[in-house]
Amino acid sequence: MAELKRLSESRDLTRIERIGAHSHIRGLGLDSALEARAVSEGMVGQQSARKASGLMLQLIREGKIAGRAILLAGQPGTGKTAIAMGLAKSLGQETPFATVSGSELFSLEMSKTEALTQAFRRAIGVRIKEEAEIIEGEVVELTIDRPVAATGSGASGSGQSSSASKTGKLTLKTTDMETVYDLGAKMIEALTKEKVQSGDVITLDKASGKVTKLGRSIGRSRDYDAIGPHTKFVRCPEGELQKRKEVVHCVTLHEIDVINSRTQGFLALFTGDTGEIRAEVREQIDTKVAEWREEGKAEIVPGVLFIDEVHMLDIECFSFLNRALENDMAPILVIATNRGITTIRGTNYKSPHGIPADFLDRLLIICTQPYTEEDIRKILDIRCEEEDVEMSKDAKVLLTKIGAETSLRYAIYLITAAALACQKRRGKIVEMEDISRVYQLFLDVKRSTQYLMEYQSRYMF
Ligand code: ATP
Repeated sequence: MAELKRLSESRDLTRIERIGAHSHIRGLGLDSALEARAVSEGMVGQQSARKASGLMLQLIREGKIAGRAILLAGQPGTGKTAIAMGLAKSLGQETPFATVSGSELFSLEMSKTEALTQAFRRAIGVRIKEEAEIIEGEVVELTIDRPVAATGSGASGSGQSSSASKTGKLTLKTTDMETVYDLGAKMIEALTKEKVQSGDVITLDKASGKVTKLGRSIGRSRDYDAIGPHTKFVRCPEGELQKRKEVVHCVTLHEIDVINSRTQGFLALFTGDTGEIRAEVREQIDTKVAEWREEGKAEIVPGVLFIDEVHMLDIECFSFLNRALENDMAPILVIATNRGITTIRGTNYKSPHGIPADFLDRLLIICTQPYTEEDIRKILDIRCEEEDVEMSKDAKVLLTKIGAETSLRYAIYLITAAALACQKRRGKIVEMEDISRVYQLFLDVKRSTQYLMEYQSRYMF
């Protein structure tokens, strides 16, 4: 357990510090009717693919996607990875998101089925609950189980029946221990007078006993940002306050596999040098996790496994996927390709996207479209902000033009390079000259191919 705790803490740290290619994606950017907003949660354009993903989201939430997978098909750089990540984020901040590229599976270090098994287990989260002492000054969420409905003016909010037999949870955000104990009792008293419903997050002023509603404990709200996936919970039966809190760690099955598979297991997670994991280790872990689930100490959080370049998989990998999807812990499988009709690896047959017909039959297919210049400009704007790069209007116009003529990904890469060029001349704002400079230094695919064709004879065969 101590190792798992260290692990979940260090994962939080890396999550905060890293600016990755998709770090600006925070969801699918949909409204409550699951329609795609023009620009939202870091997402721009690609409305029909995002809307279709929204419907998938609904199916997943309703548990209606078992045994099936999603295929994102579209040209390079049209946001397939971004959409898969947005889907995972929309499922909840704790949802594991694992990516693997088709070509990565064919390495010398492990068999392709082992690599696929590891990828699957990286996309299956385990939420482990533990009890610990509350430390003075920390933010805790106090949950009091009590009958929700009350007499008089209290607890009569919309949708809430006033039957006294119905029970629910009322949560209080507090910052220090004294408040936890003192307010716990006052809270019960105050709640019956206020219009507070089960699931509301409230604050209670100690002196006046006044209850302020911060929002609902479902979804996100700035007001209770402190209540995140790792918030400590204090569960109290009515009238009885407890000194112990419930701590929740979220790890993946793969992480548990690795730290249990060899003596230097914990370090192997950082170096990535996990090697093959023996089937007995996995069986033992599955048994242990099943025990924890039965005892109410752990819950499975199915994540999203994204396999890019799926046309690189061979026929054996596809049969593995067919079987793996039947498992009741299987994550949501999202695969992507930018290929049309091509040979299925390991056979002499051609098929759409190089995917065998029986696997194609399991897929819900979503297509992504090329971006307009306006979409490219907005995505570049978001990336500049994400990378903390200030860019002049002219430079942005030029970069957008480059993005439309070459590729979105190339234009995104130039942001970082241009910021460095700007720093070198001791500038504060990236100007057109910085963009032109890096455009000349780094070739896009089109110019690189042109160069190759011109100087072909000088290269080795
Ligand atoms: P490939 O076929 O080459 O794997 P892809 O379709 O997966 O490409 P991404 O990697 O998702 O494309 O997109 C390239 C870059 O553009 C990424 O940094 C991604 O986050 C960003 N991006 C793509 N589409 C969008 C979008 N609709 N909104 C915001 N950012 C996007």
